[in-house]
Amino acid sequence: SIMNGKDLSCGAVAGVGVVKNPISLARLVMTKTRHVLLAGDGAERFGREMGVEIVGQDYFSTETARRRWERTKKKQEADRERKGATFPSVRPSYLGTVGCVALDRFGNIAAGTSTGGLSNKKYGRIGDSPIVGAGTYADNRTCGVSCTGIGEHYIRNAIAYDISAQMKYTNCTVTQAVDTAIKKTLKPGYGGIIALDRKGNMAAGYNTGGMTRGMANSKGLFVVRLGKDPQ
Ligand code: ASP
Repeated sequence: SIMNGKDLSCGAVAGVGVVKNPISLARLVMTKTRHVLLAGDGAERFGREMGVEIVGQDYFSTETARRRWERTKKKQEADRERKGATFPSVRPSYLGTVGCVALDRFGNIAAGTSTGGLSNKKYGRIGDSPIVGAGTYADNRTCGVSCTGIGEHYIRNAIAYDISAQMKYTNCTVTQAVDTAIKKTLKPGYGGIIALDRKGNMAAGYNTGGMTRGMANSKGLFVVRLGKDPQ
């Protein structure tokens, strides 16, 4: 999903398997249709009509992803045998999500999030990344937000919008809003958030083992923090 904080325009695609850059298609949904979210076959058909790059599904099949899938599958099977559990005790892995928030010199904030979803998810499952207000949000009056983690919790708590709403209704800072979401609303292990307010204050937080993130501005700041680096 992608969102423009200037006018709250936004676009998203879900359940696409052959679109090389889903975020570009999300942007076309935002700029070329009157809709917000297209899914599955319809989204791919729209992508073809718009001439976005289409690839074979094997393009997304990497050795790392395959190994992760095998590992999670084994753990899930063992889990099920042990306790007949339908929800695995192993933490789903969500290492492939990329999120971005940006501010231009006119005070316009944009946010975008792209993901392959959780490993070993159920067929048809859609997470928070294409849900505006859950995985992504941007409003020039408050902030831009992009989330990663177990999407179901981000949808339930409308996390991306919640951060904007906290700022709007309580006048708290972007750092305080992210902190509340990470430490109070979400439980440990659920995920991470990056956010940016209209003055260029950046915030990042997570309650997982780590989250690689970077920050840059026009004054020369350029920082990359790897997974477990201090927040
Ligand atoms: N939030 C994504 C989802 O639930 C996964 C992720 O962030 O990696 O689909």
